[in-house]
Amino acid sequence: MPDFDPHNTNEGKDKDLEGIIRPQELEDFTGQREIVSNLRVYIQAAKMRGEALDHTLFHGPPGLGKTTLAHIIANEMGVNMKITSGPVLDRPGDLAGLLTSLETGDILFIDEIHRLSPEVEEYLYSAMEDYVIDIMIDKGPGARSVRISLNPFTLIGATTRAGLLTAPLRERFNINCGLEYYDAKDLINIVKRSSGILKIEIEDEAAKEIALRSRGTPRIANALLKRVRDFAQVMGDGHIDLQIARYALDKLKIDTRGLDSIDNKILSTIINTFKGGPVGANTIATAIGEDQGTFEEVYEPFLIKEGFIVRTQRGRMATELSYKHLGLTDLREEKSDTLF
Ligand code: ADP
Repeated sequence: MPDFDPHNTNEGKDKDLEGIIRPQELEDFTGQREIVSNLRVYIQAAKMRGEALDHTLFHGPPGLGKTTLAHIIANEMGVNMKITSGPVLDRPGDLAGLLTSLETGDILFIDEIHRLSPEVEEYLYSAMEDYVIDIMIDKGPGARSVRISLNPFTLIGATTRAGLLTAPLRERFNINCGLEYYDAKDLINIVKRSSGILKIEIEDEAAKEIALRSRGTPRIANALLKRVRDFAQVMGDGHIDLQIARYALDKLKIDTRGLDSIDNKILSTIINTFKGGPVGANTIATAIGEDQGTFEEVYEPFLIKEGFIVRTQRGRMATELSYKHLGLTDLREEKSDTLF
C-alpha cells in the first residue's frame, strides 16, 4: 500500500467532500479564537460603515484554515470572491483583468502570495492603496500609461512563508493574522463535526485518537477520518471505534505522536546520516528527496513545535526526544542547547 500523504488530500471525490465539510461561517470555525473574535469585530465594523474590509493577510503552515477563513469572510460580508494564486498570476494583464472585474466590496483571494512576480506585485501596490492601476499600453515609442480606477475591494493574501513577503507588500495589509497549530480539544471537535456532516458513526475515543495523530492540522484530521472510514466500512460495519481507528492509522503509517513516514525519515536522516546534526535545511531536504521550501514550510514547523528538532546557529539538530521516538540512545556529547 502506498504511504498516506496527508499533505496531498485534494483529489477527486475528496475535493467534493472538502466543500461539504468546510465551515461556512465564523460560528462553525473551531479554534484560532483570537483571530476569529477580532475578525468578527472587523467584519461588523466594515459592514456598519458600508466599506470594504481592510486588506487581510493569513499566514501559517498548510491546512490550518487560511482559505477557509477567506471564504467565511466573503460569506459574512455578503460579497463575491475571486480566487487565484501567486504562481498562476504571472502577467500584470491577468491581474488587471481580475481587479477590474471586482464589484464594490468584493474580495480577491491570492493564495501563495509570496510567489507573486515582482512585476505583478508592483501593480498591486497602487491597487491596494488607492484603488487604481496604471497599465502600460503599446511598446516602444508609442508606449503610454493609462490609469484605471477600481471599485474599492479587499485583497486577502495567504502564505505559508510570511518571511518571504517584501516589506512594501506586507505593510499594505492592515489585518495580519498568523494561524497556529490546533490543540487536541479543537481537533476532536473538528473530527466530530466532520463525522456528523459525513454521517460517520464514531466513538469519542476514536475521534480523540485521530485528532492526536493529525499534526495539529484540520486538513489532516479530515483526511485521516476519511481513510479510517474506508477501513471501518471494508473491515466492519462502518462504525469507527478505537480499535479500528488504531488499526487504520497504523496501516497508514501515522505513528502515536502523529508523525508520518516522511517526518520519521527526516528524524532518522538527521540522526543516522548526520550524527544528530547540526545539519542545514537544504542538506536534509536533498537527503529525503524534498525541496527545501517544502521541508521548511510543511514538515519542520511541526517537528520544532513538538520538540523533535531544534534550530541552532549551525543548522538543525535532533533532540533527545527524537532519539527516544526512534528507539535509539543519544550518545552525543554536544546536545541541542545552542538555540538562537
Ligand atoms: P489552508 O488554506 O491554510 O491550507 P484550508 O483553509 O484549505 O487550509 O483548510 C483545509 C481544510 O481543513 C478545510 O477544507 C476545512 O475543511 C478544514 N478546516 C480548516 N480549519 C478548520 C477549522 N478551524 N474548523 C473546521 N475545519 C477546518
